[in-house]
Amino acid sequence: MIVTRFAPSPNGPLHLGHAYSAIVAHDLAKQASGRFLLRIEDIDGGRSRPELADDFRRDLAWLGLEWEDVPDQSTRLDTYEAAARRLMNEGLLYRCTCTRAEIQALEPEIGPEGMIYPGTCKGENFDPARPAALRLDMAKAMARTGPLSWEDERAGVIEVDPRQFGDVVLVRKDAPASYHLAVTLDDAVDGVTLVTRGSDLFFASHIHRLLQELLELPVPRWHHHGLLLGEDGKKLAKSSKSGERGFGLTELREAGEDGRALAERLRMGQMPCGITLARFPHGGS
Ligand code: GLU
Ligand code: ZN
Repeated sequence: MIVTRFAPSPNGPLHLGHAYSAIVAHDLAKQASGRFLLRIEDIDGGRSRPELADDFRRDLAWLGLEWEDVPDQSTRLDTYEAAARRLMNEGLLYRCTCTRAEIQALEPEIGPEGMIYPGTCKGENFDPARPAALRLDMAKAMARTGPLSWEDERAGVIEVDPRQFGDVVLVRKDAPASYHLAVTLDDAVDGVTLVTRGSDLFFASHIHRLLQELLELPVPRWHHHGLLLGEDGKKLAKSSKSGERGFGLTELREAGEDGRALAERLRMGQMPCGITLARFPHGGS
């Protein structure tokens, strides 16, 4: 049974790019008589606006999609804590008190996900009075698992190469999990068999595959789809003025647009004026 999901963060209204992502995940499940799940990724405390989740559901129904709700991330904190404790006990995590500015000042190498942490705090080399995040000791983690691969339906089989990310944060200073830890655990708990999302998150799958191995979780397949780009050639962003430019779903819905017809056009690759669908993979190798 194929199980897919759409996992929006309620930190801004959904736009056409989200509609496309939800439709891809929905259709891949439904075509195979599978299940399509909606999970609200609301552990980014500072930026989360819970009231947006209702709009998300109205937007998806307006597009003609049918889904099953699974629990919001904020109800799953125990799962994240237990996993972090396990990795800590196994000596795979270390505390890091560095701020972004401090890391930047060291002029670190830049990987596909931004700055590669230079390991300043490794070996208990930090001030215990400052708030700490927990980072994965990537070299140790890889030595533990040995070589791994993951499979994307479009890109094929890919060797895991998480070194390009350095020692990623798994527990944030301000949240009980980072995106990487939370999403990996959630997909396992929810029984997701095909992780469907935009190709801007393609590289993150290296890290997720490694975490699955360390935490003995089932291994799904992945499907990274192309991104919708605006007139400036950049992907539509929630925080940008996409909504103001007429690409916000709630805005279109409230203006009386036919959501099902819009979904049909997106399925056929007919993008509204000013929008292009980027070829796969986007911004990667
Ligand atoms: N919550 C993430 C976002 O809104 C998506 C996570 C995922 O699909 O893996 O960008
Ligand atoms: Zn540090």
